Amino acid sequence: MLTNMLAFIFGVFTWTFMEYVIHRWLGHHPRFRPNFFSKEHIQHHSKGHYFATAKKKIVIASVAVKVMLPISWLVVGFQVGTAWVLGVGFMYLGYEWLHWRLHTHQGIGAYGRYLRKHHFYHHFVEPRMNHGVTSPIWDVVFGTYRTPQVIPVPAKLAMPWLVDQNEGWLLPRFHHHYQLIGQARS
Ligand SMILES: [Zn+2]
Ligand SMILES: [Zn+2]
Repeated sequence: MLTNMLAFIFGVFTWTFMEYVIHRWLGHHPRFRPNFFSKEHIQHHSKGHYFATAKKKIVIASVAVKVMLPISWLVVGFQVGTAWVLGVGFMYLGYEWLHWRLHTHQGIGAYGRYLRKHHFYHHFVEPRMNHGVTSPIWDVVFGTYRTPQVIPVPAKLAMPWLVDQNEGWLLPRFHHHYQLIGQARS
């Protein structure tokens, strides 16, 4: 039981690494682009509110599970392997939810607010830095970590929670963390 729990937790940790690898190298590294992920990811960067459809994600995720399960069974056995894949899958779903929330809702708590600045630094300042979404751990390990200061957000890509929905102004509570640049969409 304990072994299965540890395998699950290791699966959660494994996903944070996969998230970094997929985003940094498949999403942004010229050597590996274009690929299935980068095509969607470029749209996510350029449109701001674009996310790949759930259908595409389910297709890719089910292929990944079909590859990972038998390999893990061969290496560590049925129970531990399944627990590990469940941990990866659990954190993957957490990542999908969190990434969507970063864009659609203001953060709750210090970590929620921090993760937004970390992610929007990647979007709007240096796309070659801050690839982690659920944590900055792997950015620190691989030297792509930048401490987010005031984030300049193009007005036309502004997140809905950041601005007054009628006037398009930056909401006062975000003045110390974000600034709007350029013209909003007409
Ligand atoms: Zn994003
Ligand atoms: Zn990116």
